[in-house]
Amino acid sequence: MRILVTGGAGFIGSALVRHLIRHSAHEVLNLDALTYAGTLSALAPVADDPRYRFVQADVRDAVAVAQAIGDFRPQIITHLAAESHVDRSIDGPAAFIETNVVGTFTLLDAAYAYWRELPPTERAAFRFHHISTDEVFGSLGETGRFSEATPYDPRSPYSASKAASDHLVSAWGHTYGLPVIVTNCSNNYGPYHFPEKMIPLMIVKALGGETLPVYGRGENVRDWLFVEDHVRALHAVFERGEPGRRYNIGGDAERRNIDVVRTLCAILDRLHPRADGRAYAEQIGFVADRPGHDLRYAIDATRIREELGWAPQESFESGLEKTVRWYLANEHWWRPILAERAADQRRGLGQTP
Ligand code: NAD
Repeated sequence: MRILVTGGAGFIGSALVRHLIRHSAHEVLNLDALTYAGTLSALAPVADDPRYRFVQADVRDAVAVAQAIGDFRPQIITHLAAESHVDRSIDGPAAFIETNVVGTFTLLDAAYAYWRELPPTERAAFRFHHISTDEVFGSLGETGRFSEATPYDPRSPYSASKAASDHLVSAWGHTYGLPVIVTNCSNNYGPYHFPEKMIPLMIVKALGGETLPVYGRGENVRDWLFVEDHVRALHAVFERGEPGRRYNIGGDAERRNIDVVRTLCAILDRLHPRADGRAYAEQIGFVADRPGHDLRYAIDATRIREELGWAPQESFESGLEKTVRWYLANEHWWRPILAERAADQRRGLGQTP
């Protein structure tokens, strides 16, 4: 099959592209604008494969998107291109509305124009798979989990823009019959994660001898999933999922932020002890909380487990150890990104998380 992946140079998109090239016979076109969050180096392991192609384009550019779709003639579109960092959405929401809402509309519009001209059998087999987040459901108290029936209640500019895009995708399914699927996943972590997100940020700061900045008292709970388990779920969904159906994806791995950071520190103490023999946990420092910080997210993934037979292969602890080992072995990937970010910040372009 021919699969168009938008945002394939990002954290999850690049994991999906690497997975598809290594574990399927599909051809993949990666359409990505290469914003600050996109790194083609994350695709180096598969870049020379003849089944992989890349086009640099912005999902808001209707002409470029229509041309990429018309040239590649995908049977599946998986849409991951997005602005994805909550703190950036608080400092500058406009880009989130532009890419996540207008960009998703532009892609849907082009996908629909292409899809309705397909022969009926190809039309029936086509899928537009939109990748979204559990943050659209809002914040939980101490109990309960998000199911596919949980009402939307987004509370940050990021989650509101993702919620809007989810609704647009559902509308194109209901109104125009486009075979759409929406998946909502919990927090991902793993290799090639941009070092502004919590887990990689803590790893690189720990290695740099810096303070590990934990929001508030670290009481916020997130439900973590190893990125390679997420992309296995995405693969199952677009091959075997039912159009018009939604699937929540999560790893049953709820952890308080402070516990995530302490576990990370313990792994680093074991794998890469500090030169002075002290514990990395001594670097933990508490900083002012994020405005409107959602307390708890937790995913009920019963549907995808039962209907598609998917289950995560990594526990949180095994995935975290793999992640730490990867960051220790791949400084050549993240050091230049940190250097570029520091240069941007000196020029007043970057934002600190
Ligand atoms: P990311 O920020 O690492 O990557 C986003 C990619 O999209 C980058 O390669 C970037 O260059 C590209 N992009 C941004 N704007 C674009 C535009 N206008 N046109 C074309 N390309 C553009 O994000 P991620 O963490 O890989 O997340 C991918 C998707 O998964 C997002 O839709 C996000 O909402 C969703 N998601 C993420 C998580 C998570 O924990 N990271 C969890 C659930 C869902």
